[in-house]
Amino acid sequence: MIFKLMDYRCGVVRSWLALILTIVVGNAWAQTAELSTGEIQTLTFMREEEKLARDVYLTLNDIWAQPVLANIAKSEQRHMDAMLALLDQYRLADPASPEVGVFNNTDLQALYEQLVARGRQSALEALYVGAAIEEIDILDLQRAIAETNHTDLQQSYENLLAGSNNHLRAFVRNIENQGLVYEPQYLSVEQLEAILTAPTQRTNPRGRNQNGRRGR
Ligand code: ZN
Ligand code: ZN
Repeated sequence: MIFKLMDYRCGVVRSWLALILTIVVGNAWAQTAELSTGEIQTLTFMREEEKLARDVYLTLNDIWAQPVLANIAKSEQRHMDAMLALLDQYRLADPASPEVGVFNNTDLQALYEQLVARGRQSALEALYVGAAIEEIDILDLQRAIAETNHTDLQQSYENLLAGSNNHLRAFVRNIENQGLVYEPQYLSVEQLEAILTAPTQRTNPRGRNQNGRRGR
């Protein structure tokens, strides 16, 4: 009788464990399966767009040896890492080549060539190229944030956006230190003004950001 009761209890525990396991595994599966085609395309694109920024800054820094290029290239590596972590989490293929200046996406390949050609012309042009990349990145990240409801993607994109705002401010500061007035290349005058007057945003390589605090 006691053995039968134990058996029964073990059976109930086993059923509950099986049910809990099904829910946990099912949830994990659902989370990775939930990204839409658009979200997957955007995440894949953002990984290579961050590589575009890193590779252009590394290449132009080899020519001009500007601290702003070297420092921001390091930050772009962290942005690339954050995108790779998300690709891994959702079991998606990494489009990024290990080679600097090589891209899967043909638009990004063409943009890379065009930007490096421009940045080679002078150290000042290299700074304008940096600002252009950050403006493009900001617009693409804003679109990426708007198109997803996944909080992990949103947080990661928000963190990259905070970084891009900081980078744009740094490039513009370096241009304006030469007595020039920077005009936006892709953003509207109002969008640029809002970014330039905002305080530096602290970014976190793990994907969250705290606004309004000093940091790089
Ligand atoms: Zn970036
Ligand atoms: Zn950047």
